[in-house]
Amino acid sequence: MNPAAHFSQTYREARNRFLEAATRRGVAVETHIHPYRGAEGEELASDVALIGDPGWSRALIASSGTHGVEGFCGSGCQLALLQDDVLLGQLERRKVAVILIHAVNPFGFSHLHRTNEDNVDLNRNFRDFSQPAPVNAVYERLHPLLVPAAWPPDPKNEAALAAAQAALDANERRSLTGGQSAHPDGLFYAGQEPAWSNKTVRQVLRRHAAGRRAVAWIDLHTGLGPYGHGEKIFAALDPQITARAKRWWGEDLILSSDPDSVSPRTLGYITRSAYEECPDAAVTTMTLEYGTVPQTQVHDALRADAWLRSHPSAPPSLRADIKRAIRDAFYCDTDAWKGMILGQFRATMIQTMNGIAGDFGS
Ligand SMILES: [Zn+2]
Repeated sequence: MNPAAHFSQTYREARNRFLEAATRRGVAVETHIHPYRGAEGEELASDVALIGDPGWSRALIASSGTHGVEGFCGSGCQLALLQDDVLLGQLERRKVAVILIHAVNPFGFSHLHRTNEDNVDLNRNFRDFSQPAPVNAVYERLHPLLVPAAWPPDPKNEAALAAAQAALDANERRSLTGGQSAHPDGLFYAGQEPAWSNKTVRQVLRRHAAGRRAVAWIDLHTGLGPYGHGEKIFAALDPQITARAKRWWGEDLILSSDPDSVSPRTLGYITRSAYEECPDAAVTTMTLEYGTVPQTQVHDALRADAWLRSHPSAPPSLRADIKRAIRDAFYCDTDAWKGMILGQFRATMIQTMNGIAGDFGS
């Protein structure tokens, strides 16, 4: 089968194919219906496929679409796995359960946003809301330039933004995108409370992961790094977990605190919730971040989409251009890119299976 055939063109198509593939395999699916409708009027949901015995002590989670439109990539990986007889056979023999969370942020996936129904960046939303929101002074300074009054931006805006960005040091550059709580219409907005997807994911973790002895989680993303390359990003919380992650995934695992990482310095990232919701399990999580197009193109697509959300009466042709740009920024619709994605995903799944089965006896 051509690997590209696992990838879909819309959320609706991706969801239908995921559900069909799970049914064909006799895999149980738990559906969490989202309160809103999709771009084609369709039902929106996070669907959770539960592969293997609920009593197995080891579980491997793979999640797609935390950043909405990035779900085209993750959904393709999940569909490929559901049709991978060899790998699923190995997982079964080794008694490693698999939990596939399809479309963590179905609203953004269907409507082609990186953010959710409230413009919340879910990978900034898993923070402790009992604490005051941290101030992102760098974002504060650049916000009016990043989301200008008119789109496309005029040359004056572009020049001012380029100058402001050039003046940032390396630390400031990384904190720019790390999350902000002051501008609900802006980029990287963390929200004021746990989002629907946040509550849903935590429920899935409590129900299906918390009772296991060991839990691994790969959250699939796109939009940072070289075309088609999957950077394995790891947030180091504890030296023992870091050592385990390096043993499983190799020395090319990049710590998110490493200055060479493509990842920003992020508060409130999603996989953190596994440590909170599964306190009795040995948890090891990783973000697999695939590169797409040059950073400036990704950045401009996000700026345009943020502008569009505050300008619902924008002309239809401009709206279509912006939607096209955001889809292209996070999903390379070519056979070569899709082949690279699936190859690296499969290798990562094998590493994770070997790691969790090797370190934690059944
Ligand atoms: Zn992402």
